[in-house]
Amino acid sequence: MINKNQKTKGGLFDVYSLWEIEPMKAKGCWVWDADNTKYLDLYGGHAVISIGHTHPHYIAKLKEQIDKIVFYSNSVQNSLQIELSEKLASLSGYPDYSLFLCNSGAEANENALKLASFHTSKKRILAFNDAFHGRTSGAVAVTDNPSIQSPFNTGHEVTFLPINDIASVKEALKTDDVAAIIIEPIQGVAGIFSAEAEFLQQLETLCNNHNVLLIADEVQSGYGRTGKFFAHHYANIRPDIISMAKGMGNGFPIGGILISPKIEAKKGMLGTTFGGNHLACAAAIAVLDVIEGENLLINAFEVGNYLKDKLSDCSGVKEVRGEGLMIGVELESKYADLRKKLLFEEHIFTGGAKNNVMRLLPPLSVSKTEIDIFIDAFKKQTQQ
Ligand code: PLP
Repeated sequence: MINKNQKTKGGLFDVYSLWEIEPMKAKGCWVWDADNTKYLDLYGGHAVISIGHTHPHYIAKLKEQIDKIVFYSNSVQNSLQIELSEKLASLSGYPDYSLFLCNSGAEANENALKLASFHTSKKRILAFNDAFHGRTSGAVAVTDNPSIQSPFNTGHEVTFLPINDIASVKEALKTDDVAAIIIEPIQGVAGIFSAEAEFLQQLETLCNNHNVLLIADEVQSGYGRTGKFFAHHYANIRPDIISMAKGMGNGFPIGGILISPKIEAKKGMLGTTFGGNHLACAAAIAVLDVIEGENLLINAFEVGNYLKDKLSDCSGVKEVRGEGLMIGVELESKYADLRKKLLFEEHIFTGGAKNNVMRLLPPLSVSKTEIDIFIDAFKKQTQQ
């Protein structure tokens, strides 16, 4: 018997603010809603769509894999994982690093932090003001946003420091209990702020001298988004652990960490049920095929520069930041509703960040013609 006071309908736990739009199909840089209205996607589903929606090679590879096997556990051989690690090693410039696969960005960082602590036998982590590293236990503890940390998350030993201030890092390392420094080479959620190349280089040296691991969180900035495979390549550093996720599967959930050969693996040290499953690997391999075959790093670099140039001539813009197709546009305060206007009046998706920053994170395949459509709409809405 159903108790009348009991809820009989389902429903979702209400944690997201949703636009009144439901994408039903997508192709390249475009999505269509239920009324068949077409939208230009300069948000890439939050930097996730790397090679473009429903890319034919990606779809073919996924379908082929579905017909064979979609999942078996990590207790058996899986040659797709090896193929993925080899392709990734060669494209990312880390042939001597090994790969651990998981399912999301937070999970990648969680494993990175755990591994650093295992390796150094220390537990304090240095992170930076305004950083975002995810919402699970350790990942949210190193995220500089108390409003998304529960009391359960605040038990970790974490010190937040100002970014690009090497003196404060030196001071914090004096206690000798630091396992790792975690940094986004370009902060995403904060509003697209780059760590200076010199600062990253100094962090690398300090880490090496203090038995501290350097973790580069490339969850948002990696996989070609900035015009280089990883954003830290702009600073010519080699972090000890590199975490990645968003663009890796072009929408299929997969994450991972690349791990320096100086860190020794021990059986059972890390593990996951779903990480590295057959379908996820097929998606990730297809993504790398397309990134390489279609020269998407070069496209991201060139079209990104084109977009930044065009934006810097637009009115309403205070500052344009970022590299490649990871762009932050700080708007004058009177344009606080610009993203909404672009979405509902011009049918263009963009991302947001605090302090009136618009984040542009389109598929890496976006063309200059598509950027021109956006710039025309941007000018129209800011000149009204
Ligand atoms: N790290 C960075 C830099 C991110 O931008 C994000 C997500 O926005 C994460 C980690 C968390 O990734 P996920 O949402 O896949 O857990």
